[in-house]
Amino acid sequence: MTDAEPAVADRAALADERETGLRASRVSRMIGGRLILDGVTVAPRTGETIGLLGPNGSGKSTLLRLLSGVLTPSSGVVTLDGLPLARTARRSAARRVAAVEQNAHTQTELTVRDVVALGRIPHRRAWAPMSAADLAAVAAALERAGLTDLADRSWHTLSGGERQRAQIARALAQEPTELLLDEPTNHLDIQYQLDLMELVAGLPVTTVIAMHDLNLAAMYCDRLVVLRGGRVVTEGTPDAVLTPSLIGEVYGVRAEVDAGPGYPVIRFLR
Ligand code: ADP
Ligand code: MG
Repeated sequence: MTDAEPAVADRAALADERETGLRASRVSRMIGGRLILDGVTVAPRTGETIGLLGPNGSGKSTLLRLLSGVLTPSSGVVTLDGLPLARTARRSAARRVAAVEQNAHTQTELTVRDVVALGRIPHRRAWAPMSAADLAAVAAALERAGLTDLADRSWHTLSGGERQRAQIARALAQEPTELLLDEPTNHLDIQYQLDLMELVAGLPVTTVIAMHDLNLAAMYCDRLVVLRGGRVVTEGTPDAVLTPSLIGEVYGVRAEVDAGPGYPVIRFLR
């Protein structure tokens, strides 16, 4: 072995240290002269599901927009595999990072299948027809979102919850490595809320998901990041984060937290 060739164990350690995936490092963002995010760092591990918590207006959507590249940070940096997102080729970032915005809209003439097929755009050459791989990805995404039977329905006939599932299916059809979801369970009934969170948590995809339901967050997220006023208040496992004092401090409500069946269970008190 030469000096230039590290031992196998050393190489594995080096690979671990190399940054993979999406990361926000000390990002701040001014909007209209106000500091909306202030020095926020979020560094998901590969495949992890991170819950982004915090009251309305705490900066969750803004942080997700910085992570997806829709907004650029005023200071700090968002990186993909260690490279600034702003310097990563648009197309390769578009393949890797899928985002579903809060209340995502789309053109009303499209069918559900058309909407889901939009997720394949970053993978296709201009004007090329859908490949077998594209069609398979769309079919799989429709199936996962429970939309196979609605595939040919026109978008404008869908309920709020069905639209939300169609947007999630579009993101899945993209076959991203990083998935950003902004309050995706809002319009869903409880069965689909649980199904969606179970689906997302089970995907081999790094996910950052803004949410309000602390019990769903406790059940399905590996780690939680709590924002207030544009700053990270705390982060860690649901067990460590979701304490009565944190819930009182951040949300201004009294709560009891039970150990629960492998994850904390929160009861709100008046
Ligand atoms: P959250 O998703 O946690 O509710 P947001 O990121 O949407 O929070 O918003 C954080 C703060 O930034 C809020 O006070 C909101 O009013 C403000 N904000 C967000 N976008 C804009 C904008 N385009 N113009 C003015 N204020 C904005
Ligand atoms: Mg929001």
